[in-house]
Amino acid sequence: MIDIIDKIKKIKKKTFSIIEPLKTQKLKNGLYAIEDKDSNYFVYRKGDKTILIDSGYQDSLSRYDEFKKIDINPDDVEAIFLTHIDSDHAGCLYEDEPSFKNAKIYLHEYEKEHLYKKSERVRVGFIKINHKLEAKQPITFFNKEEAIMVGDIKILPILTSGHTLGHTCFLIDDKYLFVGDSLIFKDGYGYRFFDLLGYDNEENSTSLLKLKMFAELYKCNYIISAHTGVITNVERAFKFYNKKIT
Ligand SMILES: [Zn+2]
Repeated sequence: MIDIIDKIKKIKKKTFSIIEPLKTQKLKNGLYAIEDKDSNYFVYRKGDKTILIDSGYQDSLSRYDEFKKIDINPDDVEAIFLTHIDSDHAGCLYEDEPSFKNAKIYLHEYEKEHLYKKSERVRVGFIKINHKLEAKQPITFFNKEEAIMVGDIKILPILTSGHTLGHTCFLIDDKYLFVGDSLIFKDGYGYRFFDLLGYDNEENSTSLLKLKMFAELYKCNYIISAHTGVITNVERAFKFYNKKIT
């Protein structure tokens, strides 16, 4: 047991040295990063439609100040597309009072497995660790890789099982690829996300190969991670897709 705790402590230390979220800022026309502790989530706005990719932590105290910086009202958010159920991404699910009260929340159906504790979230040695939080907000589950439209915004979900069972990346308007916690970037190259936090890391590598094909097909040169910023080149973003980050 002590061995495992030591192992987790060491890896946590290493993890935090790699993680470097973006400051809250405009990235492109209509695309904004929001900083929330060690994570980013993203606002995309087109015409009068505003969506989020992930939602940051539950009851995040900094949320209103961060939204003020980009001059957007959280009440304008109509839809939230969650990459997976972890607390740094899907905080909106676990709130009693929703931070985004007008938003419909989308999540891949496979995440029910972790959310309702049918499958453990992660395994450390022989120890199975379940997801701990309870969803309090209504969820719209999807299970197809078919585009969802919010006004003129096209959101293509791409299932990337691995980090979690239903982890999903989103390609927005055929050009911005949000990779959540499937990839992590270090020194300008992409690696498979931290193995310690993954449900099935080999599966993640398989999913990343598929994701790379989508990125190439759409000539998508804006690849956005949840903890380590943006890479603007497909080859570099997927260079070490099957490698453990060290
Ligand atoms: Zn994360």
